[in-house]
Amino acid sequence: MTRCLNCGSERDADVCDYCGLNSAAAEFSLRKKLLNRTAIFLVGAILFVAATGMYAALDSDEMLIFGGILFFAALALAIVVERRAVRHAETEALKRVYYGLIPVPWILGALLMANGALDASAPHIEETRVVSKFSMRGPVPSRRLIVRSWREGHWVERLPVTFADFDRFNRGDAIEVKVKDGLTDIPWVESVSHP
Ligand SMILES: [Zn+2]
Repeated sequence: MTRCLNCGSERDADVCDYCGLNSAAAEFSLRKKLLNRTAIFLVGAILFVAATGMYAALDSDEMLIFGGILFFAALALAIVVERRAVRHAETEALKRVYYGLIPVPWILGALLMANGALDASAPHIEETRVVSKFSMRGPVPSRRLIVRSWREGHWVERLPVTFADFDRFNRGDAIEVKVKDGLTDIPWVESVSHP
């Protein structure tokens, strides 16, 4: 007894009683759905990365690392489901886990957007000093000013900044960081300036 790759109902003949597809057509249908949903997942991942850049959360790097792990785990799962579909093996459980992961980058991206866009809290100014700078080129360029942290339990903050701000500050400079608390308690940097 195997399950139909298209509709998931149990079947004992080549043609599924429920949806009427034979095993080859069901395999094609599943792989097409996988591809479409993977496209939706990828767009969500881009939105998530854009959201981390738009309202620069203090913990952007941790979020991007978490997002990256999730991203590659989900794609690995999609590949396993696809390979199993080719062999007409059981895919139902793994497929559901994968489909469950697809909205996650959209939800996280929307959460980060709302956290910044709908944040009505008053900004507070933190005075600190630049200890280092870090810049990485590539498809997702990142520029960070590394400053001494004002938060308990943190040594430094890695502030995501624009190219202009990155150039304006040097190691050892005093810096004023305008921080907002965030709608969902994810603190983010509104701007940085010289005192
Ligand atoms: Zn079926």
